[in-house]
Amino acid sequence: MTAPRTFRIAAIPADGVGSEVVAAGRAVLDALAADSQGAFAFEWQEFPWGCGYYERTGKMMDDDGLEQLKEFDAIYFGAVGWPTVPDHISLWGLRLKICQSFDQWANVRPVHFLPGITSPLRKADDTDLDWVVVRENSEGEYAGLGGRNLAGRGPGGEVALQSALFTEVGCERIMRYAFDLARTRTRRKVSSVTKSNAQQYGMVLWDDVFKRVAADYPDVETESVLVDAMAAKFVLRPEDLSVVVASNLNADILSDLGSALAGSLGLAASANLNPERRFPSMFEPVHGSAPDIAGQGLANPIGAVGSAALMLEHFGLPDQAARLHKAIEATTAAGVLTRDIAGTASTEDVTKALIDALGA
Ligand code: ATP
Ligand code: MG
Repeated sequence: MTAPRTFRIAAIPADGVGSEVVAAGRAVLDALAADSQGAFAFEWQEFPWGCGYYERTGKMMDDDGLEQLKEFDAIYFGAVGWPTVPDHISLWGLRLKICQSFDQWANVRPVHFLPGITSPLRKADDTDLDWVVVRENSEGEYAGLGGRNLAGRGPGGEVALQSALFTEVGCERIMRYAFDLARTRTRRKVSSVTKSNAQQYGMVLWDDVFKRVAADYPDVETESVLVDAMAAKFVLRPEDLSVVVASNLNADILSDLGSALAGSLGLAASANLNPERRFPSMFEPVHGSAPDIAGQGLANPIGAVGSAALMLEHFGLPDQAARLHKAIEATTAAGVLTRDIAGTASTEDVTKALIDALGA
């Protein structure tokens, strides 16, 4: 027998429901490994960082935290943010710091309709709908460029400037990522999203690069859609979508819309990838720390478990990822649903059902 492949994973549950859903994802992954006849194993190390840590130490993570994380094969993240700590401190002090330092420039957010869940689209059978939002994760509207009180025009006259940064390199790499992804899907199509009619510099550069990159992928169908029209399309013609590539802000909004359409924010998975694999990539549910339900066993673990499936794909274990997806579908089809998707099951009930479904 060959030696098992051991994947080292840094778990950062962080805040609120983060610890509940990360525990669920770990349990499901460990069950998968236990069932692999020694083919692969996961070695976990948990880091206590987050808002609680900040309140005790004045820091969201250790000063040498990035050094500590660097050697792992992946980071499995919960959620960051708590009402007692300003959002810009918690987000920039931990999650965005990791994303930026590890050059995780591609954020992949699948929108997947599951059996047994009524979507707000209210079609009888939505389960064949699935598309992927590919979000530019390193520049764009979240580049942090600008300032306040620039003109100093006296009381009531403050001026703030918020700029967006678009580079040809940044646009091109995210588009190539989207096109390569489209080639792995049944429907080979990439929809590019901008607001280039109103934003004449960055978004027009985006459009130009999109046309140039598309020429290298003649086998992939393309379209360019304005973000307002794309929001409508998500609702009215989602069956026409496969891969949607958009800038940081536009994709952030569209992917939340997508997860709401699929039934709940609690279902949505995401991967923050460093495709060159120079640094670890990070896998996390799309949802936040959900302070309103934290600590009550009500959190839907499916977003976190779907993120674990994305991590398995990243590890080169697509069959195992597919097993996880099947287990998720079996669980929702059987009606084992948390409160956010109109059920009464607890986080633990769903986790147990997922593990049972793996064995089925
Ligand atoms: P952030 O700023 O971190 O994105 P947020 O305030 O926008 O956070 P969430 O913390 O994700 O949003 O919560 C939004 C709503 O979705 C809340 O009502 C929350 O209870 C619900 N929610 C989020 N995650 C889950 C989950 N895993 N299961 C069930 N409900 C959830
Ligand atoms: Mg949010």
